[in-house]
Amino acid sequence: MSNTDFALAVEDLTVSFDGFKAIDALTLYIDKNELRVIIGPNGAGKTTLLDLICGKTKASAGSIKFKNTELTRMAEHKRVRLGIGRKFQTPSIYENLSVFQNLEVSFPAGRSVMGALAFKCTDEVKSRVRTIAEDIHLHDKLDTEAGLLSHGQKQWLEIGMLLMQEPELLMLDEPIAGMSARERELTADLLQRICKGRSVIVIEHDMEFVKRIAHKVTVMHQGKILAEGPMEQVQADPKVIDVYLGH
Ligand code: ADP
Ligand code: MG
Repeated sequence: MSNTDFALAVEDLTVSFDGFKAIDALTLYIDKNELRVIIGPNGAGKTTLLDLICGKTKASAGSIKFKNTELTRMAEHKRVRLGIGRKFQTPSIYENLSVFQNLEVSFPAGRSVMGALAFKCTDEVKSRVRTIAEDIHLHDKLDTEAGLLSHGQKQWLEIGMLLMQEPELLMLDEPIAGMSARERELTADLLQRICKGRSVIVIEHDMEFVKRIAHKVTVMHQGKILAEGPMEQVQADPKVIDVYLGH
């Protein structure tokens, strides 16, 4: 496979914070329709890697290509327009709007204007809201005020708000933190469904959860990749057991 076939190609990526390399010459390829999980000890550079891909942090060296477009020096909002969606650890939903309204306002601006087309677009928005509400297990909560949702439901709503923009790459940083066992199960389902037609990168610590969702696992350590492959292979790797799983 040539590098142009990947949804995301990260090559020799480095970022230094006052001389400390949080990401150190890292190379990573993600396929279309792939759900990749990134694991590794605290401080390994996992969140920083997502920050670099979404444009929140600027790289010191190396390259990030998305659908073969060079992103490395592109502004954050342009990366969003290209199809990159990122969920942060704390949800940013509108607590006093309904679930429906939260999803509706997340429909990309600029697509629903155009005078005569407005009616058609409104229907398009509504139908997208309904489809996504099903995907995120909130179809019977459309009229509920978002502030009244459980912690887990708020996390799903935020994923839904990102899905409204139809991202081709979706990145989630520890999406099940603070969720109940049942919510974790439903989140595993949800992720398996939404990785069809796009690529998804998930950072997670819960190994049972990782086992359920990952197509492939990347283990990071000190800004580098320590191991990569199917879960069973990574779990049996002595290097991985030594720096992460053994603790
Ligand atoms: P992880 O998500 O794997 O726990 P992070 O990506 O948050 O790790 O952090 C990796 C390392 O980079 C840590 O040592 C952290 O302190 C450092 N770091 C992250 N962001 C910054 C920053 N903006 N300035 C300085 N150091 C940072
Ligand atoms: Mg982190």
